[in-house]
Amino acid sequence: MNIGFFGGSFDPIHRGHLALAQAAATRHSLRQVLFVPANIPPHKQKQPLTAFIHRYAMVALATQDERGFLPSLLEAAGAEAKPGGANYSIDTVRRLKRTLKKSDRVFFLIGIDAFRDIAKWREARALLAECDFIVASRPGYSLRDVAESLPEDLRPPAAVTRPFHKQPAKGDLVLPGVTLHLLEGVQQNVSATAIRTAAARGKPLARWLDPRVADYIRKHGLYRGK
Ligand code: ATP
Repeated sequence: MNIGFFGGSFDPIHRGHLALAQAAATRHSLRQVLFVPANIPPHKQKQPLTAFIHRYAMVALATQDERGFLPSLLEAAGAEAKPGGANYSIDTVRRLKRTLKKSDRVFFLIGIDAFRDIAKWREARALLAECDFIVASRPGYSLRDVAESLPEDLRPPAAVTRPFHKQPAKGDLVLPGVTLHLLEGVQQNVSATAIRTAAARGKPLARWLDPRVADYIRKHGLYRGK
């Protein structure tokens, strides 16, 4: 069975996240997509995140109508997390894989903005080897940008990637230790940052979010005064 792993802060989950997951599920026959809200301890946060429980609840609301889309507690506090320590994707993916069958295949869903930093992630090579990656590309990014985001020893030689700069980021990139599937045309012009700003100003949120999530934000007064 093909399973999608989609991690993020989801603060809040929005239409861009859902569009990525839907496109990935259709293209790669994913029977399940796990939406994994990150549980980053407060002292590790660059900017304070909304409480895990609220972000998890919003993910649960937004994924309700999609068969196979599941809110995940894999990174909830206590889920084998080190006390006070951050959950790293490599640990979470390994934990997930211990619960799956050998024949199951895990696809790691990620937007190209986040993928640009992949080489800095904890045990990046191991993570890239553990699963296929589905990278949602955006106009303006080339195949060379994608290849050059990889840890140095996994990158194809510069002579190979040089001509890639004219090629849009699409298709598959299969290298020793890495399989990347590029998804085109799913990036939507929405970000959680813009939603938090709009919510703080009391603006309507419905065009960016599932209405149930918009309602949840309003009822709980999330992002007020941010
Ligand atoms: P923030 O604005 O707070 O940085 P965000 O909207 O980028 O948040 P995250 O929860 O940080 O959302 O993102 C989780 C994943 O979803 C990342 O891999 C990111 O690249 C991807 N993503 C975020 N926004 C979009 C979008 N509009 N379309 C497609 N993918 C997206």
